[in-house]
Amino acid sequence: MADRSWPDDWNERMAGRECPMCAAVGRGDNHFGVEVFRGQFAEVHLERRTRLPGYCVVVWKHEHVAEPTDLDPARACGYWMEVLAVGCAVRARFHPLKINYMTLGNTVPHLHTHVVARYRDDPAPGGPLAWDQIQAADPAPDADLHRQAADLRALLSRG
Ligand SMILES: [Zn+2]
Repeated sequence: MADRSWPDDWNERMAGRECPMCAAVGRGDNHFGVEVFRGQFAEVHLERRTRLPGYCVVVWKHEHVAEPTDLDPARACGYWMEVLAVGCAVRARFHPLKINYMTLGNTVPHLHTHVVARYRDDPAPGGPLAWDQIQAADPAPDADLHRQAADLRALLSRG
C-alpha cells in the first residue's frame, strides 16, 4: 500500500463540518456542474469536465447525511427513486451502453451518487472507471451543457 491515510478530520467531515456539498445545495450552477433538476429529495448537476457525456451527480439536498443507511426507509426510497429517474433520463438522452451508479463519498462524505454513462469507446471497457478516466481537463462548451441539462430536466419533469 502507498502511504495513504484517511484525513485527520475524517470524523468531523462525516458529521458535516464545513461540508462543501451542504454549502452548494440550492445554489444552482457551480464550478463543477450545471444544474439539471431539483427533486423532493435530491438535486442533480451535469458535470462540466468529463470524457463521458451525460455524467450527472445526484446530491441529497436536505440536512447533512453521510450514509444512505442514516435515512429512514421512506426518505431512503425517495432518494434512490430520484437516482433511478436520473439514470432513466441519461439513458434516454445519451443512449449509453451501460450506466454506473457510484455512491462513494470517500472525500466528501455527504450522500451523493455519480450517475456515469459508459460508451463503446470509453476508457475502461468492461470494467470500472478510475477518476482520471472520468474527468477531462477542460469543460464542455457552456451552450452544449445547458442544452443537455435542459433536455434532462424535461425528461425528469415528465416524471
Ligand atoms: Zn453535507
